[in-house]
Amino acid sequence: MPLSLVPQIRVNRVFDLSPDFLHSRGITLLLLDLDNTLAPYSGKDPSPGLCRWRDDMRAAGVELFIVSNTKTSRAARFSKEWGVPYIDKAQKPHRWAIYEALRQMGRPRGEAALVGDQIFTDVLGANLAGVRSIIVEPLELNNILYILRYIAEIPMRLCTRKEKRL
Ligand SMILES: [Mg+2]
Repeated sequence: MPLSLVPQIRVNRVFDLSPDFLHSRGITLLLLDLDNTLAPYSGKDPSPGLCRWRDDMRAAGVELFIVSNTKTSRAARFSKEWGVPYIDKAQKPHRWAIYEALRQMGRPRGEAALVGDQIFTDVLGANLAGVRSIIVEPLELNNILYILRYIAEIPMRLCTRKEKRL
């Protein structure tokens, strides 16, 4: 699989992904990063909007699965609250957790996409694993390290045109 840091799809937020768009691309499983993709690092619970989006996806036959690098109990708690399965300590860009999520959900990699806010973990991991890579903007940049990392990612982000709503 390609060692590429370029995302295949770029949007602002997960909400910008619609079931119709995913269907048109043959995507039936969304693997989702947690921190700064679904919720800010400081956010403990899924927002009402995120619950509505989950319901819309499920109604359209798109399954959701959290693949998080967090080493804390945060993913377990969020997963329980949101009612979506998870793997934590995923070590993205390593591929094992992505493959394990595909195995648990019984989907081939061609039907999956990974959505995340970071190039060097989420996009690289998705591209290495052979699932579609979708980058979103980080929900909050309130730490100098996050800001510097984001600046380093800008060239790769700009390789893909940002879509308003898909
Ligand atoms: Mg993240």
